Amino acid sequence: MSRSRCILHVDMDAFYASVEVRDNPSLAGLPLVVGGMGGRGVVAAASYEVRRFGVHSAMPMSEAKRRCPQLVCVAPRMARYRQVSELVFSVFEQFTPQIEGLSLDEAYLDISASLNLFGSPRTIGEQIKKRIYEATGLCASVGAGPNKLVAKIASDMDKPNGLRIIEDSQVAAIFRALPVYRLHGIGKKTAAQLEALGIATCGDLSQATDAQLKPVFGRYASAIRARARGQDDRAVVSDWEEKQVSAEETFAVDLHRPEALRREIVGLADRAASRLRHKALVTCCVTVKIRTADFQTLTRSHTFAPPTDDTRQITQIAQHLLQSWRALVPDDKVRLLGVSLRDLAPATQLDLFASAAIESSVHTQPNGQQATKRLDPLLDGIRGRFGAGAVTRASALPTKTPPDP
Ligand SMILES: [Mg+2]
Repeated sequence: MSRSRCILHVDMDAFYASVEVRDNPSLAGLPLVVGGMGGRGVVAAASYEVRRFGVHSAMPMSEAKRRCPQLVCVAPRMARYRQVSELVFSVFEQFTPQIEGLSLDEAYLDISASLNLFGSPRTIGEQIKKRIYEATGLCASVGAGPNKLVAKIASDMDKPNGLRIIEDSQVAAIFRALPVYRLHGIGKKTAAQLEALGIATCGDLSQATDAQLKPVFGRYASAIRARARGQDDRAVVSDWEEKQVSAEETFAVDLHRPEALRREIVGLADRAASRLRHKALVTCCVTVKIRTADFQTLTRSHTFAPPTDDTRQITQIAQHLLQSWRALVPDDKVRLLGVSLRDLAPATQLDLFASAAIESSVHTQPNGQQATKRLDPLLDGIRGRFGAGAVTRASALPTKTPPDP
C-alpha cells in the first residue's frame, strides 16, 4: 500500500454471543441474544441466526422478542468476555505494538512497520485470524486499508469470518458506491436529510456543494466530503501509550549478558517511575515487556497493593519479572525491553493507603523506602530543570563488566 501506511481493523464476529456458544455448544444454531431480560433490558449482542429476524444490538429486549418469539436469551458474563478479549489482544501484540482498542472485541492495528517482517497485509490478516481461532475458537473479521476509515469499512464488507484488503487504488471506486449511512457518524436522521437532497452514496456526498452540506454538517462540511472520498489521517493511538506510563528501548545490538539486561531494566523502571510522579499518579501493576531477537514479544506483570510511585519498589518488581523470564530462557537475546505501569490512580489516593504503606515499609525496608522517598523528588526536580539525561541512578550505570558485544 502506498504512502507507507497500512491499518488493520479487527472485529470479532458477534463476540459475546459467540463466546456463549463456544462455552455452551448446545446454544449453537439457536436465535441467541446476550442481554438483560428485565423490563428495560437491551440486546448487548445478537448471534447471526437471530439477526435474520431483524434483531440487532442496542435494541430493547421486548422489541427483540416481538420480532423473534423463539429467541434464546442469556445474561452477559463480562468477566469471561474480558478473559477472552485478553487472548485476542495478545494475538495483536504478536504483530505490532501499535494497537488501539475500541472495545473488548475490536481494535485498529497500525502494521505499517510490520510488513517487512511478517509479509503482506493479507498474510498478516490471515495469520491474525488463524491465531485468534487457535487461541479462542472464535472468528474475527479483518479489514485492511491505507487508513482507519477504510480499514473499518473493509472489515465489515465480508463479515462474518471476513478478510478484505482495500488497496489505495481501489478506495475511490469503493467509496463512490458506498451508501452514506455506512460512514461512521451518519445515522438514520442525517441519512434521511441527505437523501432529501438527492445524496445517497459517498460519491454523491463527495461532490455535494457547501450550500447543500452546511445546513446539515455546519463547519464539518469539508471534513465530511474528505471522509466520503475515503480520506482519513487520524493516527492509531496505542493503548500502551495512553492507559499506562511506560518507557521502552529498542537496542542497536541485541542484549544477552545479565548485567547489561539488569542495567537497562533499572534505567527503564527509573524513567517510567519518574514519568508517573510527573503526572502525579501511582501504580498497582508493573509490567515488563520483552521482545527477543526472533521478534517474539511477551509481557510479565505483577499486581500489588498498596499503590506506589516509589522508584526503588518499581525497580525491584521489574527486575524480578525480568529475572523470572530469564530463568526459563537463559540463552535468548533481547531486542527490546519496556517497563509499563498500569492500574493507575491519582497520587492523592495514596493518602488512603498511607498508614498501611508506612507500616509495611517499617517492617520490610526500614531504611530503603524512607531514603528513596527523599531521593525521588530530588532526581525528578533535577531532570525537570536539566533534562532526563541529567542524572542517573548509580544502579543504572554500567559496572566493570564490559557491555554486550
Ligand atoms: Mg464485533
